[in-house]
Amino acid sequence: CGIVGYIGNKQAYPILIKGLQRLEYRGYDSAGIALIHGDKLSVYKAKGKVSDLVQFAEQKDIEGTIGIAHTRWATHGEPNQVNAHPHYSQSEELALIHNGIIENYAVLKEGLTKHGYTFSSQTDTEVLVQLIEYIKKSNEVNLTTAVQLALNQVVGAYAIAVIEKGHPDVIVAARKGSPLVVGIGDDEFFLASDATPIVEFTDQVVYVGDEEVVTLQRGKQLKIKTIGNVEKTPEIKKLEMT
Ligand code: GLU
Repeated sequence: CGIVGYIGNKQAYPILIKGLQRLEYRGYDSAGIALIHGDKLSVYKAKGKVSDLVQFAEQKDIEGTIGIAHTRWATHGEPNQVNAHPHYSQSEELALIHNGIIENYAVLKEGLTKHGYTFSSQTDTEVLVQLIEYIKKSNEVNLTTAVQLALNQVVGAYAIAVIEKGHPDVIVAARKGSPLVVGIGDDEFFLASDATPIVEFTDQVVYVGDEEVVTLQRGKQLKIKTIGNVEKTPEIKKLEMT
């Protein structure tokens, strides 16, 4: 039920874990994190509390300056480690987190199965990451475009964030129905379901609109396009700091 993302010059892991803790009040049954370090894209997840995730992840490689993290409130598939997010795509080149419900996941899954995709979880979410990968590979487009095209096929509510192995400079995120906020710092971006994980780092935020896809690219300005590929100028708001 919560999303956090970070890309910048700092270590992502502590920021992401702290962010998940700030979102704990929203309720959840499992938690997970994905990090890019060098040419590795690692996913760690655990059933239970953020503290269970921490216990599991801290025996692993948690380095990296880009990452996404999630607390799940199960709607499709029981709460367990496999169904927890992030979900890998089939090639394990993409990792995705999602809050919301993909209503037409069964139809999408059937189509992807015909193209040779197999599924390891019972979630609606895994269908979306596979669809993005399928579109990305078959159309030879970048991650932002693949996300735009995939979301055109989706019926439902979502806040998502995706990262890609070999691309440590980009997070792509989008929303419809479920909330999503981008925080803009000094050469860094934050991403969260609400501003609580962001406030201590920056007071500059952009509230992502319905059917908007945001590209958070290291060293670049925030880019926003709709799923219909209309470019939007980010409307930066100043948070009231407490
Ligand atoms: N529908 C997704 C699942 O059950 C996401 C749930 C959520 O919003 O945390 O995995």
